[in-house]
Amino acid sequence: MNKINVLIIGDANAGLITANKLRMHTGNDVNITVVGKSEKTYFKPEGVLIPFNGIDYRDTVKPTDSLLNYGINRIKSMAKKINPDNRTVLLENGKTIEYDYLVIATGDRLVPENVPGYNKDVYHFYDMENVLKLRDKLNNLKAGKFVVGPASIPFQCPVAPEEFVFGLDMLLRRKGIREDSDITLILPMDDVLPFKNVSDLERKGFSELGINFIPKFKTQAVDTSKGTIVAESGESLNYDTLVLVPPHMGQNVIIDSGMGTAKGFIDVDKFTMKYKNYDNIFVVGDAANFPMKVGALGHSEAAYVASKIAAECDGTINDDKFDGFMGCSSVYSDKMGFTLSFDYNSKPFVNFPSKTDYFLKYISGDTYFSSIIRGIL
Ligand SMILES: Cc1cc2nc3c(=O)[nH]c(=O)nc-3n(C[C@H](O)[C@H](O)[C@H](O)COP(=O)(O)OP(=O)(O)OC[C@H]3O[C@@H](n4cnc5c(N)ncnc54)[C@H](O)[C@@H]3O)c2cc1C
Repeated sequence: MNKINVLIIGDANAGLITANKLRMHTGNDVNITVVGKSEKTYFKPEGVLIPFNGIDYRDTVKPTDSLLNYGINRIKSMAKKINPDNRTVLLENGKTIEYDYLVIATGDRLVPENVPGYNKDVYHFYDMENVLKLRDKLNNLKAGKFVVGPASIPFQCPVAPEEFVFGLDMLLRRKGIREDSDITLILPMDDVLPFKNVSDLERKGFSELGINFIPKFKTQAVDTSKGTIVAESGESLNYDTLVLVPPHMGQNVIIDSGMGTAKGFIDVDKFTMKYKNYDNIFVVGDAANFPMKVGALGHSEAAYVASKIAAECDGTINDDKFDGFMGCSSVYSDKMGFTLSFDYNSKPFVNFPSKTDYFLKYISGDTYFSSIIRGIL
């Protein structure tokens, strides 16, 4: 009997969940292969806790090999070019792999070079190297003017910059230098989130804590020698410490395969997660051209796509449409948090901030590595 080959490109969040879920749903007639050469997988949401020593970074990094369930093949190379019509993927190691089903889970990449003047004196918390650099900077924290925010849209996790300024406020208070410091959050969007009730809650927190908030600030350039950041509108801010989330783009393999938008993200049908009219190509996680780049959405997409492919491999009919569900907890002021969940048909209900929700955020790394990434939840 010919085996069905499922190839998954991308070996972190959405890719590993798809592989692990699919392995649970299928038998020996389905070959599952994951392509990617990450040695380690890092739970990025903890990037808002590590800089404040809220969590030890060693607890948030696991060997990628250890996260794949039994019976999944791994090819430690990168995908170079996808040929949807031939059903093949060319790898960096020169090999060409054939597939029956392809799942693209390549995420996004940070492109600080797209902001003129961005250099080593600008900080961010969007990858482990920079999280640790920022943690060291904050360990020797002095009072001053802090400007924090994403340079442009899209960026991962719309609540992460807010979580960061709440953490920074807490740290400055603990060190007794909050009165002598100034925190400004800049966001390129019109408001904190596309949901008014959540934005209201976040803005309430900023105002209670004296955090300045400037929406519609689309970064044009930075001058680290003068300590200034300038927006496309011409507005200029001075800073002592700048924490600027770099612009995001999709991966080169997507652009080189002619499958992406100008920024390298892939347009997909939001109800099927399929690429164009290819019934055998799915996209999960940040690689999809959705405005929200959120791991929790990637989890639901991965679960949906795994169940879809498993049903087709089984010859059963699964007409379910993807409902866009996501749920996650977010840091609020003074070790408080709140939890959001919503889907295509419902807006988030936001509860009052609580210590329980902060606890949920705090333990989310353990939940992630013990069950979510394993495909159990
Ligand atoms: C600071 C921060 C806080 C966050 N907080 C939250 C939160 O609270 N809740 C939440 O839900 N989300 C949060 N996120 C967002 C979440 O982490 C991302 O949305 C999620 O990691 C995206 O998963 P992904 O699998 O699509 O991409 P990634 O996790 O980026 O994985 C992509 C993988 O593909 C591999 N790859 C790339 N190109 C190739 C190629 N050519 N061939 C093979 N492999 C390739 C990469 O090496 C990588 O291993 C946060 C992110 C950050 C940075």
